Amino acid sequence: MVAKIIEGKQVADKFLDDITKRVNVSKEKPGLAIVLVGNNPASEIYVGLKEKKANKLGFYVERHNLKEDIKQDELLKLIDELNQNKKIHGFIVQLPLPKQIDETFIIDSILPHKDVDGFTPVSLGNLVNDDNRLLPATARACMELIKSTGVKIEGKNAVVVGRSSIVGKPTALLLLQENATVTICHSRTKNLSEHTKNADILVVAVGKARMIKKGMVKKGAIVIDVGINRTPSGLAGDVDFENVKEVAGYITPVPRGVGPMTITMLLDNTLKAMELRKGVNF
Ligand code: NAP
Repeated sequence: MVAKIIEGKQVADKFLDDITKRVNVSKEKPGLAIVLVGNNPASEIYVGLKEKKANKLGFYVERHNLKEDIKQDELLKLIDELNQNKKIHGFIVQLPLPKQIDETFIIDSILPHKDVDGFTPVSLGNLVNDDNRLLPATARACMELIKSTGVKIEGKNAVVVGRSSIVGKPTALLLLQENATVTICHSRTKNLSEHTKNADILVVAVGKARMIKKGMVKKGAIVIDVGINRTPSGLAGDVDFENVKEVAGYITPVPRGVGPMTITMLLDNTLKAMELRKGVNF
């Protein structure tokens, strides 16, 4: 068996068409602000991609570049301003933040209705209650990529490797909402492959290049690779793509898999944040 490749860009393009239509009928431009602290090269690339795509879709975009040694109260002042700014419907603070900044405190200070990354405790609490107002973009991306296969999720064994609050846990909760039977694995999981081999749907969000090998994957499984790892041979996912594609039924590549969908979901969240304020029902 050779897996079908789930092309993130193709799935994203359908959503981008829909976003374009919604922006075109709107009197107001969706407003997105992006806050970048310091000069982390990976963060600069991600922020650049988000900004470019938002501009292309006709969003109002503000980018705030702050110096690496900024004090926490200065950053909080900007967040307060963005919370109040009527032109901004949603904003993100690109993670990671420098050591002197308390990341949790900063995320907590974003107003939930402007939390288009879906990282605040309120957004995550909503998700636990099956209220999907503003979901973490990467978790949404994983779900849409799984759904794009047309395979029914209900009743399937889903295994999520990684339990971060921004990817692993929210993805597991969304799979549970779709009535999958969900297992979450992490660094202390014993016999990881015993779990992964049982997965009809396998989502991997760890950050270790090619750690999921062919022998760890069930024949015909849907494999979603969230990992982005810089290796001497270029970007690699957490899944050994070349070999795993021989057993999986569907697989996302890295790059061009989860990445483009994550950006798209962020923009969709921003538009949704604007629409929610206007009382549009979803
Ligand atoms: P993270 O916060 O570092 O979490 C990594 C998770 O992997 C942790 O839960 C950790 O377990 C688990 N883990 C570490 N080693 C393991 C092992 N040997 N076996 C099983 N689990 C193990 O990372 P993250 O923010 O979730 O991101 C994960 C990856 O996705 C990174 O490569 C990141 O760059 C990428 N990412 C991509 C996108 C995208 O749009 N494509 C978006 C976000 C993140 P413990 O909890 O026990 O430590």
